Amino acid sequence: MTTQTTDLALEVRAFLQSEILPLEPIFLKHGFKAVLPALQKVRQKVKAKGWWLPPLPPPHGMGLSLSAFARLSEELGRSPLGHYAFNTQAPDIGNMEVLLKHGTPAQKERFLEPLVRGEVRSSFGMTEPEYPGSNPVWMNTKAVLEGDEWVINGHKWYTTGFEGSSFCIVMCITDPDHPNPHARASQIIVPTDSPGLKHVRKISVMGEQGEDWMSHSEIRLENVRVPQENLLGARGRGFAIAQERLGPGRIHHTMRWIGIAQRSLELMCGYAARRELSPGKPLGSRQAIQHLIAESKAEIHAARLMVLDAAEKVEQQGAEGAKVEISLIKFFVAGVLQRVLDRAIQVHGGLGMSDDLPISFFYRHERAARIYDGADEVHKTVVARALLKEYGVEVSL
Ligand SMILES: Cc1cc2nc3c(=O)[nH]c(=O)nc-3n(C[C@H](O)[C@H](O)[C@H](O)COP(=O)(O)OP(=O)(O)OC[C@H]3O[C@@H](n4cnc5c(N)ncnc54)[C@H](O)[C@@H]3O)c2cc1C
Repeated sequence: MTTQTTDLALEVRAFLQSEILPLEPIFLKHGFKAVLPALQKVRQKVKAKGWWLPPLPPPHGMGLSLSAFARLSEELGRSPLGHYAFNTQAPDIGNMEVLLKHGTPAQKERFLEPLVRGEVRSSFGMTEPEYPGSNPVWMNTKAVLEGDEWVINGHKWYTTGFEGSSFCIVMCITDPDHPNPHARASQIIVPTDSPGLKHVRKISVMGEQGEDWMSHSEIRLENVRVPQENLLGARGRGFAIAQERLGPGRIHHTMRWIGIAQRSLELMCGYAARRELSPGKPLGSRQAIQHLIAESKAEIHAARLMVLDAAEKVEQQGAEGAKVEISLIKFFVAGVLQRVLDRAIQVHGGLGMSDDLPISFFYRHERAARIYDGADEVHKTVVARALLKEYGVEVSL
């Protein structure tokens, strides 16, 4: 980690402390929309400091490497509002990276530029209720080329941030007869005001306030027509592009989780020092509590080093070359996060269960970490498959 990256991370932490953490109690009590006007002002300050969109190359952003941004992602992850303030919230950041790499000049002008400026939001629709998200080659949404238009029919859910987004990148089967199942799908940009695109409902999800970019929708596409030029990247490359996106995406997510875990550990230590069991005997004087603190510290430290190592490997060998490391961090860090949050609640007793602290929000909200972007079991299989291959055992996903 360079001194520059560390200095920047510390500056961002101080900024978070003074500009974003004061908004948290309002957010936790009244929801995202209650803090949106104030957050827009924070975004202007972020821009003025030259910190806008750290992982995107200039002129869009700061051009930080994946490893350098990983460090910053930890800092921003300390608050549920941190990434939004820097315009690096999912799924927008992933959509920006894909549009930047695969978008045509016209797509960049129409869809990427307003997203980069923070004027609009976007969504990404891959998962379907009737099919296992863990085996995405098996899906039903189809796009058929009729003249110069794609006609799309399908059913998606868990389309994060769909409500209020200006477009959705939809994963569709375009080549159902291709012998390679991984070459059957393409990504197509669908403006959300397209006739036939129906918002069925916002799904009520544990820990989610169901507002704005923090909502998850079920949608239907019924004979939705978009111009042929809305194909994103090459036809049949949908899964390959999704994999490219998910590699760095998992670095962003896992470092964000480490930020949450680190903050929870600090809250745990602060409370262990403050709360007295009897006069002059703080909670932290008990060995049982010390163990919870020490175990959390060790796991967070290990997780951080693992993610930074994976980020370096992605930089050197691409997402495909770092497949095993990415799967390792995805399930390992999600587990660390769950355990640290649980310990933080335990140490705080009743206060930990209350919504006076952000820990209970994090606990509910981040349970999904073990499911989205690949469930634990799938990532463990990826790791075991690579290891067992060397012993002549073939493992299928
Ligand atoms: C908060 C949240 C946000 C999301 N945002 C988006 C989004 O923006 N866009 C989008 O397209 N999707 C999104 N998703 C969907 C997410 O990607 C899927 O939920 C995930 O891929 C799992 O798919 P599934 O729910 O269909 O579960 P399934 O694939 O049906 O799996 C169910 C369970 O089976 C087990 N399992 C699965 N495969 C295996 C295996 N090979 N071996 C052993 N056990 C296995 C796992 O425990 C898994 O949790 C989001 C989900 C959540 C919870």
